[in-house]
Amino acid sequence: MKNTILKRTSANEPLETMSTAPEKINLLDLDRGAMEAWFVDLGEKVFHARQVLKWIHKHQVTDFDAMTDISKSLRAKLKDVACVKIPGIVFDQASDDGTRKWLMELQCGNRIETVFIPEGDRGTLCVSSQVGCALDCTFCSTARQGFNRNLSVSEIIGQVWVAKREISPERCLTNIVMMGMGEPLANLENVISAMGIMMDDLAYELSKRRVTLSTAGIVPALDRLKALSDVSLAVSLHAPNDELRDQLVPLNRKYPIRELLAACRRYAADDRRKVTFEYVMLDGVNDSDQHARQLAKLLQGVPAKVNLIPFNPFPQTRFKRSSMQRIEAFQEILMRAGLITIIRRTRGDDIDAACGQLVGRVADRSRRHGRPPERGLKGFGIAVVKANGVRKQSLQGSE
Ligand code: SAH
Repeated sequence: MKNTILKRTSANEPLETMSTAPEKINLLDLDRGAMEAWFVDLGEKVFHARQVLKWIHKHQVTDFDAMTDISKSLRAKLKDVACVKIPGIVFDQASDDGTRKWLMELQCGNRIETVFIPEGDRGTLCVSSQVGCALDCTFCSTARQGFNRNLSVSEIIGQVWVAKREISPERCLTNIVMMGMGEPLANLENVISAMGIMMDDLAYELSKRRVTLSTAGIVPALDRLKALSDVSLAVSLHAPNDELRDQLVPLNRKYPIRELLAACRRYAADDRRKVTFEYVMLDGVNDSDQHARQLAKLLQGVPAKVNLIPFNPFPQTRFKRSSMQRIEAFQEILMRAGLITIIRRTRGDDIDAACGQLVGRVADRSRRHGRPPERGLKGFGIAVVKANGVRKQSLQGSE
């Protein structure tokens, strides 16, 4: 299938910015609470924070001079100390099926991918949370790229800002899934703050049902997420037993299925929402009738629905996609056991925009090897090490 490259800007072109001095604060980094605190620190009234938040996210205005309900003196003050810096687009690709993929350039030359998937009156944006990923799931091409760093709040919400600007007026952004590059629970604080902006009435106004975080299952972070946010949850299960999941999702060696499912039950308690369990269909690996029966048994008593994802291949992978006949037979077994089971339609695969195909560009590829952890990341079993001035994340105890 062909695809269209709609736009290419020079990789050296500066990010789309207002002219700024480096020390200026990027207001895209601030959610409502942080923005209010910042205005108070500035000696200004809190309601100006709300005005600015609305200008930036709702009206997509980045020039303080265009924020007309703010006094000229305050605008001048803001220009001195703040900026609104948006990620720049390096490539903009459109799939035959309407899916759009943007390669965005961040500071220091890192690149990430963001995907928009229109479907009827729904428009889902798939947002990245990290440059690369440290989890090393064996069937995921992002994992192949290594890990470089967490995205800042502005880099996460900047993807939404850019998508909103680029999407044609007849399409609209109705859902956001944190299913792009990276493990969102390994960048919890920034992700929670960015999701707060997604759901803020002054910004993107999405309900908690329309913002979904997908995780491979960092159990302590999942509990923390529950305490701090109430977005919808998707969990990348991919195997019905620890032996197989250890191979496919190495994080399982740290947080095995029993602990993960207990955390899912805690997450879903007091709320009738179900947890979505993602299950990639790998030919001859995890797709037998027996696997399906084991999965059905495993999810008994868990408020669950299952999303079967046909594997999306990438160069040099040893895995193959299960046949549609096999996927349907697998679905049938789960449905008969009373589990709502959906087969995810593969979208945007002609532009490598499907699940697990996002790569961006990771400057540092030495992700997981050799060096001792410098300090733990909030005790979530993710070690942060620093070498050659580059921060890295790796799974503690799994190497
Ligand atoms: N780190 C998060 C987000 C990952 S991407 C997580 O693990 O949930 C979103 C989903 O795509 C995950 O379920 C992931 O396991 C799945 N995925 C990764 N590579 C894939 C591939 N090649 N084909 C199909 N699904 C894939």
